[in-house]
Amino acid sequence: MDAEVTIFDKIVAGQIKANIVYQDDLCLAFHDVNPQAPVHILLIPKQRNGLSQLSKAQEHNKEILGHLLFTVTKIVELVDELKNGFRIVINDGENGGQSVWHLHIHIIGGEQLTWPPG
Ligand code: 5GP
Repeated sequence: MDAEVTIFDKIVAGQIKANIVYQDDLCLAFHDVNPQAPVHILLIPKQRNGLSQLSKAQEHNKEILGHLLFTVTKIVELVDELKNGFRIVINDGENGGQSVWHLHIHIIGGEQLTWPPG
């Protein structure tokens, strides 16, 4: 699956437009096209490097995985609606509801979230 070009590769390449919230050399954050809450941001590594999904992670992915989590805190600083709390979600595989095979962290907030999720 890694060899396939995903919609997120096209966003990274600028071939498909996205509403970008944050980026650095390693990662890109943009608003989800189909938001499930008032704020719904997707955070992705720019290079997939085998990370089609979290469960495929290898030793060499450890640095980017840490970088992504740390970057969540930077995004929260940038987006006022997340300051009162938020949730991060990684859907993995078919049962996890994953639909795009390029690792991504959902950052969801802007309202009182309920638990458990569906
Ligand atoms: P998954 O279901 O794989 O966890 O999440 C994929 C997410 O990507 C979904 O929330 C979906 O709305 C979002 N998405 C799919 N295509 C696009 C797109 O072209 N642009 C943006 N901004 N989000 C997309």
